[in-house]
Amino acid sequence: MSFTNVIGDCPRCHKGKISDKGATFGCSNSECDFTISKKSIADLLIKDTIDAMDNTLEQIQTINKNEIKRSRLIFLTISLLVVCAFIAFLFFKP
Ligand SMILES: [Zn+2]
Repeated sequence: MSFTNVIGDCPRCHKGKISDKGATFGCSNSECDFTISKKSIADLLIKDTIDAMDNTLEQIQTINKNEIKRSRLIFLTISLLVVCAFIAFLFFKP
């Protein structure tokens, strides 16, 4: 068999080599039946990518929530200061 497309050692038998067999990757050891389809690898990669994107989106949303909380706090503080200044102006008008 050709070893030009070998991508690594077999994770099942640890004797054969995993090589590209067209639609699948398979073990070179004739006693081992390890094969994995490229489609299932692609599906796993897509699932992992989508999971990673979901995590990133959640993180962005958390950052935004904290940002919104901080903006509200700043707005409330400024509003309170304006109200205090207005009350002070009303009561201590020269
Ligand atoms: Zn194997």
